[in-house]
Amino acid sequence: MSGTVLTINLDNLTHNYEYLRSKINPKVKLLAVVKAVAYGSDAIGIATHLESLGVDYFGVAYAEEGVALRESGIGTPILVLHPQPSNFNLLVKHKLEPSIYSVRLLNLFANFCLEQQLENYPIHIKYNSGLNRLGFSDTDIPFILDEVEGANLLIKSLFSHLAASEDVKERAFTMQQIKSFKQFSGALQSQMINDPITHQSNTSGILNYPEAHFSMVRTGIGLYGFGNEAIYDENLKPVASLTSVISQIHEIPAGGSLGYNRGFIADTPVQSATIALGHADGIGRMYGHGKGFVYINGQKAPILGNVCMDMLMVNVTHIDCKEGDEVIIFNETYSAASLAEAAGTISYELITGIAPRVKRILTQK
Ligand SMILES: *Cc1c(COP(=O)(O)O)cnc(C)c1O
Repeated sequence: MSGTVLTINLDNLTHNYEYLRSKINPKVKLLAVVKAVAYGSDAIGIATHLESLGVDYFGVAYAEEGVALRESGIGTPILVLHPQPSNFNLLVKHKLEPSIYSVRLLNLFANFCLEQQLENYPIHIKYNSGLNRLGFSDTDIPFILDEVEGANLLIKSLFSHLAASEDVKERAFTMQQIKSFKQFSGALQSQMINDPITHQSNTSGILNYPEAHFSMVRTGIGLYGFGNEAIYDENLKPVASLTSVISQIHEIPAGGSLGYNRGFIADTPVQSATIALGHADGIGRMYGHGKGFVYINGQKAPILGNVCMDMLMVNVTHIDCKEGDEVIIFNETYSAASLAEAAGTISYELITGIAPRVKRILTQK
């Protein structure tokens, strides 16, 4: 096998799904977040597998992501977290359920449903409990109830999003978010006929705040194998492995330079290996100059100089290797979270950034 490949291990996905399920009450539903190509992996492959495991809901950011799932045969309900008014027709055509988070959006969607003579269209009301990104406030409750009744909408769920569930130092803030959401959802529920699902937790909410599980949880990063904390990472298995091969090896004499803008100058003789992976593949320039690294034959090889568009070069002076040898950028043993951290970012950014041109291979025993 040659070239750069992202291998997606569906058995690890099963393991993570079951682990996260074991953390919630059996009655609590699980929504799998598969936005951004299932966190940079393979949205259809991941969603098809999760559907076979019995996941209750999917979450995507935009309508088009939901359409792609529907077109590949996914029948599970899909919540669209950030719908755009220009796309309401797509939502409805593919039975996608919008998150409705503002007075403006609710008004636009209610009018759209009235025009299209849609009855009981499912929507999800999003509450701003402190992230200050998207969501209604408490004072919007009378407006929400009026619009929902006027346009015959069906509130399938009430939800909110935690700002700092992975950060123990922010426990008081998170507890306040949970309390605010309880008040908001309680106030709305007391005036509703149907009994909506309630949800507030992302992966770290599931792991750190059992009191915030409500009747559904939404998990993204955990399914892909990261728990935002070393102790949780132990129980999860990274789903994606990024591997490549050494294209060429160069001997650089003392005083010689390497790469664009002579980003690396050798003080002593250095052996470098060129790898078919660059910033256009998702390994950004911030990984250059020794911050990032790969593994070759079990040894760590730091990146030398600037990361190029299609390639990067690593130091293999002390590594026994040859052209054509396998290079591991991240896998189950060499965590993407550690690599991301070394360059000052987080696993989310590294894994979601792997470009579409990197070949995806799904594996399952
Ligand atoms: C992306 C997202 C999630 C998933 O969060 P993880 O930390 O990956 O589990 C959950 N809820 C909302 C609203 C999101 O935008």
